[in-house]
Amino acid sequence: MGSDGRQKDNVPELTGLFSFRKVADATSDFNDSRYVIFGVPYDGTSSFRRGSRLAPDAIRLAYDNLESYDFQYGVNYTDISICDLGNLTVGEDVSEILDDIESVTRTIVKNGKIPVMLGGEHSLTVGVMRNFPDCSMIIIDAHSDFREEYMGNMFNHACITRRSLDILGPGKIVSIGTRSVSREERESPRWKDVRFVSANEVREKGIGKVINELESRGMQKIYFSIDMDGIDPSEAPGVGTPEPYGIRATDVRALINHFAGRIVGFDIVEMTPVYDNGNTSMLAAKLIQDFIGSKESS
Ligand code: MN
Ligand code: MN
Repeated sequence: MGSDGRQKDNVPELTGLFSFRKVADATSDFNDSRYVIFGVPYDGTSSFRRGSRLAPDAIRLAYDNLESYDFQYGVNYTDISICDLGNLTVGEDVSEILDDIESVTRTIVKNGKIPVMLGGEHSLTVGVMRNFPDCSMIIIDAHSDFREEYMGNMFNHACITRRSLDILGPGKIVSIGTRSVSREERESPRWKDVRFVSANEVREKGIGKVINELESRGMQKIYFSIDMDGIDPSEAPGVGTPEPYGIRATDVRALINHFAGRIVGFDIVEMTPVYDNGNTSMLAAKLIQDFIGSKESS
C-alpha cells in the first residue's frame, strides 16, 4: 500500500488526456499542487510561420537549463508545489480544442489551483478565459488580435482580444506592446473598450508609468497572457509573426513582478522553435519562473 502510484491517478476527468514530458521543477502531483502547467501543441489557424505546436516541449527542454533556486526572488522552485500535466491531446478542430481547454482549466480552477498554459497559438487562450469571466486581463502582444473573424474563423489566433472582450466586457482588458493593427480593427466601434498600450508608448513613458496607469484601473483578479511576439524580435525571434520595434523582456518581467499577487492564470503562446536561435524558448521558460517566483514572494 502507498507506493504503487495509484494515488496519482485519482483525477478521473484528466486521466488519458495528456502525454508526458515535464517542466523540471514540476515535482508535485495534481492534488498537492498550487500551480498546474499544461501544454497545448496546436497551431492550426496560424497564418504565417507555423510551428508553435512544438513550443511546449521546446520550452520544457530550455527550462532544464534553469537553476531551481532563484536568486532574485529567494525561492526554490522544487519547494513550491508545481504540477505539469504534459500536453493535451489535440485534433484539428479549434472549437473542440477550446472546449477541452475550458474543461481542463475548469478542473484546475475549481480545485483552487492556478493554470499555466503553454501554447500553441494565441487562439487557445479563449478556452482558458471562459473560466475567468469576472477577471481583468493583461495581454502582451504586437498585434491587436481584434478581428471579428479571420479566414472565416471567429476563433482564429488573430481574434483573441475580441473574443476575450466578448467574455469580459468593456474596460477590463489592457493589451501592451501594440504595433500591428488593421484599419478595420482600429475603426471598430469597440476599439475603445480595450486599452491598447502601444510599444512606442511603453518606450516613451517607461514601463513604470504604464504600471501606474494600470494601477488606477483597480484590477483585482488578473489573467496574464503573453504572446511572445509582443517582445522585440531581437530578444524573441522564435515567433510565428515577428513584428519589429517591440517592448523589452524586462518590461514584461516588470509587469509580472508588479501584478503577480493578483494574477490568477497565466499563459505563454505563439513561440515557434522552428525560427528560434534558442533565446525565445529560454525566455519563455524564464517567464514561467518569473511568474511563479514573484507570486510566491509577493
Ligand atoms: Mn496574439
Ligand atoms: Mn501577436
